[in-house]
Amino acid sequence: MYCKHCGEKYQTDEAVICVKCGAPKGQGNNFCPNCGQPTPPTSSVCLSCGVSLAPNPADNPNAKSKIAAGLLGIFLGAFGVHNFYLGYTQKAVIQLVCSIIGILTSCLVVGGFVVLGIEIWGLVEGIMILCGKINVDGNGVPLKD
Ligand SMILES: [Zn+2]
Ligand SMILES: [Zn+2]
Repeated sequence: MYCKHCGEKYQTDEAVICVKCGAPKGQGNNFCPNCGQPTPPTSSVCLSCGVSLAPNPADNPNAKSKIAAGLLGIFLGAFGVHNFYLGYTQKAVIQLVCSIIGILTSCLVVGGFVVLGIEIWGLVEGIMILCGKINVDGNGVPLKD
């Protein structure tokens, strides 16, 4: 294993930070962690050895929790809370607004159907998140377990 930030070889694979530059293991996009060759920052695979350079979701402190997003979808999906959490703001606002309109018009039969429909939508999305069918957030960052 090599430091992705400075290309220094780790003393041991169990090292959690680079002793040369201090970068946490797996952070940085200058070098291949497998062969230590320089890599273009935009490249998703190492052109020298072929390993994937995509960051491990578990190493990304900004990664959203799959479990949290899924549970939010299942329990509060009608209000788009899981989509707000994941950064799918547009979809979240649509769900929230439709639910509010549905609740306000629930004295009419159609309002009840709208609320029910949005609830099912949120529930299905929550399940899809938990099953890994939805596995990135609104910024394309992979979700972590
Ligand atoms: Zn380093
Ligand atoms: Zn490589």
